[in-house]
Amino acid sequence: MQHLDWPFFEPRHGKLVAALDQWAAGRTAHAHGADVDATCRDLVRALGEGGWLQHAVAGRAYGGSSDTIDTRTVCLIRETLAYHDGLADFAFAMQGLGSGAISLFGTTEQRARYLQRVAAGQAIAAFALSEPEAGSDVAAMACAARPDGSGYLLNGTKTWISNGGIADFYVVFVRTGEAPGARGITAFVVDADTPGLEVAERIDVIAPHPLARLRFHDCRVPAAQRLGEPGQGFKVAMATLDVFRTSVAAAALGFARRAFDEAIGRATSRRMFGQTLADFQLTQSKLAEMATGIDAAALLTYRAAWMRDGGARITKEAAMAKMTATETAQRVIDAAVQMFGGQGVVSGETVERLYREIRALRIYEGATEVQQLIIARELLRSAGAA
Ligand SMILES: Cc1cc2nc3c(=O)[nH]c(=O)nc-3n(C[C@H](O)[C@H](O)[C@H](O)COP(=O)(O)OP(=O)(O)OC[C@H]3O[C@@H](n4cnc5c(N)ncnc54)[C@H](O)[C@@H]3O)c2cc1C
Repeated sequence: MQHLDWPFFEPRHGKLVAALDQWAAGRTAHAHGADVDATCRDLVRALGEGGWLQHAVAGRAYGGSSDTIDTRTVCLIRETLAYHDGLADFAFAMQGLGSGAISLFGTTEQRARYLQRVAAGQAIAAFALSEPEAGSDVAAMACAARPDGSGYLLNGTKTWISNGGIADFYVVFVRTGEAPGARGITAFVVDADTPGLEVAERIDVIAPHPLARLRFHDCRVPAAQRLGEPGQGFKVAMATLDVFRTSVAAAALGFARRAFDEAIGRATSRRMFGQTLADFQLTQSKLAEMATGIDAAALLTYRAAWMRDGGARITKEAAMAKMTATETAQRVIDAAVQMFGGQGVVSGETVERLYREIRALRIYEGATEVQQLIIARELLRSAGAA
């Protein structure tokens, strides 16, 4: 990866990518249409055994590689895994997102109980924020918890929950009503085998991965499972997303780079009209646009990651990175499919898989339109303060 020479990185980042690239090339191949639950379980275990998941959690005492999450490392891991295999990236990302709130806000007991197992690949994590009527508008959530003795009773529905059905625990955000809207939400860690929590429906998507709708019915959760203070759940969710939103951009970059490499391979080998596809200026124009888009997206992504690792607030920069990288990757992959002609839409072809894998990234962890609103809000706020 040429961008490892950029000033955002330290020598340790280059070493990590070289080792992971080798690891991923040998371990992430799985059959087209394989059982995604089994594949994801295997991948989580393998990523844990390989030592990669220690970068997804914070706290050396709890199995983490350092006491804070190094955003550049998380991004480079996601980019590298996504280049090789979307499910491997998914398995890594969800261990981080699903346990991120525990890394950031967990008590000593909560961290000791969950993070070590997450880092070792022995427990699968999930992040349950979205609801049928509260996706982009998170503050509209209806799933609620009310105090009951020494704990809380949870009732309601969560949907689009990645790892739903295979997770060992869910970090769940519910309405506790301390204040209206976003200020009346609290986070809990709920073990998957807690009575009253059930997987109501598994959801099939274009790039299959474990995904489910969860139902809570008088699900009793001890107060010790509360994450952060009552009413602070929105802050917990947003702080977690702030870490991982930049890494969605990095995953998109990995998909885009793979599509670009596939496109170069195809353009230089496919013969037509007495020359190769790459000999046509129309193709060269496309390749130039693809490569420039990838570099622009990478610059935004690693600027955001580098700023966060330096202690800066990166709400605007992470939104710019996520929006640009996911939208660019979609265009790059589409162009690659086009260069493959009919072969580009054959099931199991790499560019066909990438075409399906990129789509959801423009929707989850804040759709592109939501990122635009975040960027504009931050710009207008600083203009007002100037
Ligand atoms: C594959 C996948 C995995 C997911 N994993 C998880 C998970 O693990 N945990 C979790 O909690 N959630 C998860 N989600 C949910 C995801 O975060 C939501 O789908 C997303 O927030 C959008 O919510 P929604 O689907 O309800 O769409 P809606 O909120 O109904 O939005 C629909 C569309 O409206 C547009 N839009 C939104 N706001 C505006 C606006 N202000 N102005 C103009 N247009 C707007 C956008 O284009 C958006 O796509 C996942 C989703 C997918 C598809």
